[in-house]
Amino acid sequence: FSPPKPVSSFGHFGFDEALLGAIRKSEFSQPTPIQAQGIPIAMSGRDIIGIAKTGSGKTAAFLWPMLVHIMDQKELEPGDGPIGLILEPTRELSQQVYHEAKKFGKVYNIKVVCAYGGGSMWEQVKACEEGAEIIVATPGRLIDLVKKKATNLARVTYMVYDEADRMFDMGFEPQVRSIANHVRPDRQTLLFSATFRKKVEKLARDILIDPVRVVQGEAGEANEDITQTVEVLPVGPAKWTWLMKNLVKFTTLGSVLIFVTRKVNSEELTTNLKARDFKVGLLHGDMNQTERNDIITAFKKKEIPILVATDVAARGLDIPSIKTVINYDVARDIDTHTHRIGRTGRAGEKGFAFTLITEKDKDFAGHLVRNLEGANQFVPKGLLDIALQ
Ligand code: ADP
Ligand code: MG
Repeated sequence: FSPPKPVSSFGHFGFDEALLGAIRKSEFSQPTPIQAQGIPIAMSGRDIIGIAKTGSGKTAAFLWPMLVHIMDQKELEPGDGPIGLILEPTRELSQQVYHEAKKFGKVYNIKVVCAYGGGSMWEQVKACEEGAEIIVATPGRLIDLVKKKATNLARVTYMVYDEADRMFDMGFEPQVRSIANHVRPDRQTLLFSATFRKKVEKLARDILIDPVRVVQGEAGEANEDITQTVEVLPVGPAKWTWLMKNLVKFTTLGSVLIFVTRKVNSEELTTNLKARDFKVGLLHGDMNQTERNDIITAFKKKEIPILVATDVAARGLDIPSIKTVINYDVARDIDTHTHRIGRTGRAGEKGFAFTLITEKDKDFAGHLVRNLEGANQFVPKGLLDIALQ
């Protein structure tokens, strides 16, 4: 499976004219990155882990596909419980998302109910009993309403955990897990969070099925578990020397993924490593799918401890054993960099990312400085010097 490509216009999401009209009225000019990436995946029916900073437009990313899902589902199964369920950590957030859901749900006359702790139980019970297609709720209150039989989760097939990290801060973990256990397993589940903490990863592993990860923004910020090191080196053979000095040590920690920018360089580096008796695999975009799968499988099974790859081939790799990512060549842009280093530090494990940079990379250096600063990582003076050239 390769995730659908991000789209640059609302018109490409496959929404009907009615929904597009409502989006146009909201005067958004184009999808935010999390929407561009997340919506096509959500529309394909896959589970999603979406990591993005607050204010990145996550609500619409899960809400619009939810509306489409509900319109498809409600013909199939009549009933009065919700089809779409959105869990929020706080009353404010549940109200905010409720208003968005009402605004866009109006297009299809979708019934939305908001249920939060502290609000009038009686009013919420009444609202539920009038029938709901979407419930936006805080976890504790939802459980109360289900216990009172004001509503039921039998029809829920699209479930959203919004702000999962805050949900943990609020102590909602038991409730959140209990709700997941009471919703049918053939649902689609989307989990959003501003940070990628161990607890969030663990929850995601437990309640999502083969999720697609959509990560936006600085990975270092999103993932506290990746330690980034930048090695400022002179142009020439210094990169190779550095690699020879460190590679054995890295392989003792776990699997090693080495990124190079161009296919020819990936082939050359692989040949050179083999000549030094390293067990190494190669992955680039000109290989056919079977070859790629074989290499990835061998790397996953740790039969090959080192993989050299170009960006084209490495998209979406999810291999928990990767401990070290080496940017042997810097990425072509900072988003690619973020994506690359995100291959490690997964599932709450610690990861290490090394970026080899020379004065030839001065265009990239400035972006990297900002990325490191944003992620609370050490910025070496040599990198600043290159950035300021
Ligand atoms: P998050 O949940 O990621 O913190 P929200 O979904 O609350 O972000 O959106 C933040 C703000 O951005 C809201 O005011 C929302 O209306 C606005 N917004 C959402 N999508 C877009 C877009 N495509 N273009 C412009 N503004 C948007
Ligand atoms: Mg939000």
